[in-house]
Amino acid sequence: MIQEGRMTNHLMDIIRIDSPSRKEKNVALKLEKDMKELGAECFYDDAGDKVIGNTGNLIVKLAGTKKDAPPFFLCSHMDTVSPGEAIKPRVENGVMRSDGTTILGSDDKSGVSIIVEVLRTLKENNIPHSDIEVAFTICEEIGLLGAKFLEASSFKSHYGIVLDSSTPERLVLRCPCSDIMDVKIYGVEAHSGLCPENGISAVEVLSDAVSNMNLGRIDHETTANIGEIKGGSATNIVPGLVELKAEARSHNEKKLDAQIQHMHDCFVKAAQSREIMLDGEKLNAKAEIEINRIYPIMNVSPQATVTKLVLGAVSNLRYNIKLHTSGGGCDANYINEKGIECVNLGTGMYELHTINEYLLLDEFYKSAEIVLETVKLHSEKN
Ligand SMILES: [Zn+2]
Repeated sequence: MIQEGRMTNHLMDIIRIDSPSRKEKNVALKLEKDMKELGAECFYDDAGDKVIGNTGNLIVKLAGTKKDAPPFFLCSHMDTVSPGEAIKPRVENGVMRSDGTTILGSDDKSGVSIIVEVLRTLKENNIPHSDIEVAFTICEEIGLLGAKFLEASSFKSHYGIVLDSSTPERLVLRCPCSDIMDVKIYGVEAHSGLCPENGISAVEVLSDAVSNMNLGRIDHETTANIGEIKGGSATNIVPGLVELKAEARSHNEKKLDAQIQHMHDCFVKAAQSREIMLDGEKLNAKAEIEINRIYPIMNVSPQATVTKLVLGAVSNLRYNIKLHTSGGGCDANYINEKGIECVNLGTGMYELHTINEYLLLDEFYKSAEIVLETVKLHSEKN
């Protein structure tokens, strides 16, 4: 029932509309038009003001034809990473790619087009369905900000699907929670040739801290990384400041807290252990550390209602799917926290966030069939 050609054309159309994070408005307007043609109600929330973007999340409500069936939630993000401007999508041998100078933007516009096609299919085939609630979100790529600021009170659904991972042959149930650390290490500047003993090198403090720090893969649930470092001002000055950004993630909140504490303590101890006496005054290095939770954990049970629902749909279609744990966060991290039990289904997209990004059309259509069948199954419930 899914119209593959229409779905592919829709995707190419929206890929051609630029939508970097905070500038999703033109795509949102196109989707609003598509959704209103189906008779759906559309509105924008105030997430755009909170992120200082040009649009909020686009919320769509398609009224059900089965009034007694509980509503169902669908979500994909509208923003793309860079280089993502003037994308020229093309299809060859069942694979969609860019021209090799940009990303493709199937992350996550393939999910968006799947949702549009499913709603069109429900409508034109008069398939009995519950109310469908959709969030086309903004700013997923810069920390799930659209989902973070989504108002839970805008939705009545208890269950839903986020479409934002690679293959529809796996269903993501678990994503880690993550913290970022902004660290400033202050040393004491001095001329490196005339009086290095009057300085404390912030680079050496950093080096002490890192040499005592567990980084990389901590265990099967936890990872940590120092991703950015800048500091110093000239070769002849003992560096007085180093700034860095680090992150840690875990599928276990306690382990994340412990890893962040460990990293914090390494910076503080390294700073405290470097001191000098200058003109009778004791000077210390200092570490200034800011820690922020960027997203909460997602942990949907294999026995959860929504998991069983999608597995039921997949089995009706005689497809196979594996339950999966992901190493990255997605909008579903926040949406689960807001009380809508959501799994993340793949759309057929691969090599995301690179100019080699591609979409397998067979998997793209398959994902749409799974969503359609899930909505049908769900709508049979009272
Ligand atoms: Zn994505």
